[in-house]
Amino acid sequence: MLDLAIIGGGPAGLTAGMYGARGGLKSVVMFEKGLPGGAITTSSEVENYPGYCEPVTGMELMECWPKQAERFGMQLRMNEVERVERNCDGSFTIHLLDGTTEKAKAVIVATGSTPKKAGFEGEDEFFGRGVSTCATCDGFFYKDQEVAVLGGGDTALEEALYLANIASKVYLIHRRDKFRAAPSTVERVMKNPKIELILNATVKKAYGDEMGLKGLIIEQNGREIDLKVSGLFVFVGTVVNNQVLRQPDGSYLCELNDRGEVVVDLKMRTSVPGLYACGDVRAEAAKQVVCAAGDGATAAVDVIGYIEKIGELGQC
Ligand code: FAD
Ligand code: NAP
Repeated sequence: MLDLAIIGGGPAGLTAGMYGARGGLKSVVMFEKGLPGGAITTSSEVENYPGYCEPVTGMELMECWPKQAERFGMQLRMNEVERVERNCDGSFTIHLLDGTTEKAKAVIVATGSTPKKAGFEGEDEFFGRGVSTCATCDGFFYKDQEVAVLGGGDTALEEALYLANIASKVYLIHRRDKFRAAPSTVERVMKNPKIELILNATVKKAYGDEMGLKGLIIEQNGREIDLKVSGLFVFVGTVVNNQVLRQPDGSYLCELNDRGEVVVDLKMRTSVPGLYACGDVRAEAAKQVVCAAGDGATAAVDVIGYIEKIGELGQC
């Protein structure tokens, strides 16, 4: 039986892995369904992680985190977790998508969140053929072309700025005339001559042909605009990745709030002993890399005390 299973290899999970392994836990395994590093690896510019005088890409920021955790003994397994269940002895069974299982005395859920869809016609049809949720990944394909960005939060505005360095023009489409993004970011967008705002507007339809996206039908103040762009970057928020907590009867293993975020205390403990949640998946998260990392450390330190307290399991 593992001492600690960590689900998700973003900043929260990787920091938990490092603290757990370095703190003396015997067997710490982190399950990650993709490449470790998490959501921030899709960001083109990170300028608010402490210790970096200059902006770095998300990839650069996360490059060493898995190696650092592995140096202290954390094991990284490239597997998707389907579900976590609690056993009668207080341990947990982790069901993996490949049909195998693992048992652990404690579990940290650090599965983060994923980009939301905006819900317009053609969004799925042209996803990967003009519609994207990653400017770092796909921005280069639109060099010197006109593109659009949808959304009014930090992600939309930051990525619009990034795309303005590559594309000839960036239309920023937002459904209101007020932005959620930080005031300093809004100011940079306003000052950028390559970004044109299309406010109080919604995307009705994406259209194109077998080659890909050709344009968007936008509704603004009751009139339709035909915007001819070959790329649309959708940044309309994220969905909480709480699926691993869902039980066969449809209930959730621990308490969630009305947005589906995991309710935790200041030690990242959920309503179930031995089960922790940290980073963007938890309630009241600041949704920042530094906060996710702090959560991971907090959870792992508490797990060390928890494992000491419960001793050996296996008796029901
Ligand atoms: P995530 O980073 O989302 O990691 C979760 C991991 O869990 C993922 O790797 C995922 O593959 C894995 N996973 C999910 N489900 C499973 C499963 N069932 N089985 C196995 N693995 C699973 N924050 C800042 O501080 N500064 C910024 O400049 C900044 N810019 C951002 C730009 C963008 C485009 C985005 C999207 C976010 C940005 N953020 C920024 C926010 C930051 O990325 C997040 O707050 C942070 O990544 C949260 O870390 P996390 O570990 O909780 O989750
Ligand atoms: P967000 O803050 O939730 O913003 C989503 C935006 O999309 C909102 O402006 C929203 O409009 C709009 N929207 C939602 N659904 C839509 C739909 N169906 N059609 C059209 N527009 C829609 O999401 P985010 O920008 O991804 O940020 C997520 C979190 O990460 C935030 O807490 C953010 O602060 C953080 N983050 C931080 C940084 C940073 O610190 N540098 C960078 C990126 C992200 P309304 O405004 O009308 O609701």
